[in-house]
Amino acid sequence: MTTETFDVVVVGAGMGGIYALHRYREQGLKVLGLEGAPGVGGVWFHNRYPGARVDLESVDYCFYFSQEIFNEWTWTERNASQPELLRYLNFVTDRLDLRRLIQFETWLTAAQWDAESAEWALTTSSGAQFRTRFLVMATGNLSAARAPAFEGLDSYKGEWVRTSHWPDREVKIAGRRVAVIGTGSSAVQAIPVIAEQAEHLTVFQRSPNYSVPACNRPADLARLDEIRARVPEVRKELFATVGASNVMLPSAPMADYDEAGIQARLEAQWNSGGHGMSYLFADQGRNEETNFTVAEFVRNKIRSIVNDPEVAEALCPYDHAIGTRRLCVDTNYYATYNRENVSLVNVRDNPIARISETGIVLEDGQSIDVDLIVFALGFHPFTGAWDRIDIRNEKGEAPTDQWRQGPKTLLGLATNGFPNFFFLTGPGSPSVLANLFLMNEYHVDWVGDLIAHMDSNGYRAVEPTVKAQERWSAHVAEVAAPTIRLKTRNYMVHRNEDGSGVFIPYIGGFKRYADQADAVAAEGYPGFILS
Ligand code: NAP
Repeated sequence: MTTETFDVVVVGAGMGGIYALHRYREQGLKVLGLEGAPGVGGVWFHNRYPGARVDLESVDYCFYFSQEIFNEWTWTERNASQPELLRYLNFVTDRLDLRRLIQFETWLTAAQWDAESAEWALTTSSGAQFRTRFLVMATGNLSAARAPAFEGLDSYKGEWVRTSHWPDREVKIAGRRVAVIGTGSSAVQAIPVIAEQAEHLTVFQRSPNYSVPACNRPADLARLDEIRARVPEVRKELFATVGASNVMLPSAPMADYDEAGIQARLEAQWNSGGHGMSYLFADQGRNEETNFTVAEFVRNKIRSIVNDPEVAEALCPYDHAIGTRRLCVDTNYYATYNRENVSLVNVRDNPIARISETGIVLEDGQSIDVDLIVFALGFHPFTGAWDRIDIRNEKGEAPTDQWRQGPKTLLGLATNGFPNFFFLTGPGSPSVLANLFLMNEYHVDWVGDLIAHMDSNGYRAVEPTVKAQERWSAHVAEVAAPTIRLKTRNYMVHRNEDGSGVFIPYIGGFKRYADQADAVAAEGYPGFILS
């Protein structure tokens, strides 16, 4: 059996993988996509829980690389639902005739770098083997879900599901007693929808999060038309913002406003909805007093919405400043706790001890019987998807072996010792802080340009130098140092044993990031060893 050799193998057929296959094929490369799921979409394929929708605006959160594709798709809602996003990603895949480049239900299981041939040797779950000059990981930052590790789950006689891998079949909620464990972004979206159908819903909360209204509504078609008139220009404008989206950073600190002005600004943001609440005052991410005022505004909203003062207080976050963990964006989340069929159980002081045959048992012995358990426990962030692949360099090392004190990357794209190995939207890039459609487009293009540069100059291998990688990691740390985010327990912070934290994404802003990455490309890739 011969092993087919490709120029680029792209792992993952979510938004990054879809664009990568298109872009690299367009530049004349022989490409292959590997995808574990039976369809495209990545997180939007798997996260099909009730209420799942994007919490950025859909007219921003989509591909911008093609004027035609932008013109041909009309979003129906400001915050597209998961089914609409999945339809869109399938539409783009078919419109560009990419499906035939992808092997579905095929996991990459091992990748071994062969320095002599300057190729990666790949093994897959289907038994097929491939070789490739470049390996591009489009595996996502939040794609490897945390498995429920509760004692006794095997003995549970009811049904259980995960938001992150919601089954592609009807999950009966109506007339059932349902438990949701977790209160992050996924749960906050699912809880109001489940509550409307369940006989009773019990939410098990360990840490309350701040949540703001999405104010979802029909898509702004006038804005869509404005963008359609000049997609390439808007793409450039988005690349020149802080998050590659239309969330703009304020220039004025809170001290520039009087009390009435502060409250008016907060109220207006609450009523327009979305992530802007994290970016209302220029000093909100650094000044704890300013941050407290914004946090207290949201806590007061919770107190005003939730009728039972004890429940309201339990839902108020006090353990972290607002915006230091990702803000949740909801539709009717807090009001859901006013329903008679919804109860909140605080499992911070009284954790879940085990799952019994009939339900959930807390440490104090209290037992809550349920027919369906929904786990919304989050993900192994950033490199979780790599953990199920045996990636080895010539020395037999894995890419994260040297990352015990935090990720070591150059531009969040590549790591020393791993030639021709690229990761899209990786640690050390704006990553989860940016609009991931445009972040992926930027990285795919950057890697494509580097491959073109190598091919036209006869280079076969590329990897960052240790020095450049250290300089970049120091810069990533330097821009994060003044922010209060580092203090919070948060999936974006790598915590060392001595308690010190390393902020994983690049928080200096998308434009500042892209300016530096553009300069590296323009100057012939200093900081990379080309051989
Ligand atoms: P998450 O924010 O990490 O939330 C996981 C939840 O599970 C937390 O409330 C956590 O409590 C709880 N938990 C974990 N282990 C537990 C245990 N043993 N007992 C009780 N509770 C436990 O995960 P997520 O909600 O899936 O969201 C992850 C990220 O995905 C988001 O931050 C966002 O970036 C992305 N996301 C985006 C969207 C969107 O765009 N619409 C929607 C969903 C998710 P602790 O906080 O105490 O650990």
